[in-house]
Amino acid sequence: MSRPQTRRKCRCCNKFFLPDPRTANRQRHCSMPACRLASKAASQRRWLGKNGNGDYFRGAAAVRRVQLWRQGHPDYWKPKASSSQGTQVVDEQSTNPGQSSCNVPRGLPGTLQDYCLAQDPAFVGLISMVTGSTLQEDIAATARQLLLRGRNILGFVLPETTQTTVEPPS
Ligand SMILES: [Zn+2]
Repeated sequence: MSRPQTRRKCRCCNKFFLPDPRTANRQRHCSMPACRLASKAASQRRWLGKNGNGDYFRGAAAVRRVQLWRQGHPDYWKPKASSSQGTQVVDEQSTNPGQSSCNVPRGLPGTLQDYCLAQDPAFVGLISMVTGSTLQEDIAATARQLLLRGRNILGFVLPETTQTTVEPPS
């Protein structure tokens, strides 16, 4: 695919730049660090809105709702085992080595624990808002991607990896 090199205007700083030929089709930002960050954020917004109408503000509002919710539920996102020294109320679940950070009944297999948040009606509703889809399979697929993404961000290697040492399945 050969096309003449054209200069493009950066969406962030509004300066003209020569796009990288390899990514010229998608590149909308120059290589300045701040603009690359903006580019990354923009691609995340595109990803969030890919099934919907791409409405960034809707997505941002949804993210804001999650942030507010998280402020009200600080324990929900932390592995329970790590809170034993803190001021949080620690119930007997913290002694259950199989228990991850989710508020699920005991005894669920790891794969289900993994998806406990995806079964939270509020979370399902949130994904539905962001994606614009009410199909459960769409929502499940998005939830899986979100979980993967979240794990990568948090540095989790395995779904079951918490404070307690779990033998990885081989
Ligand atoms: Zn720029």
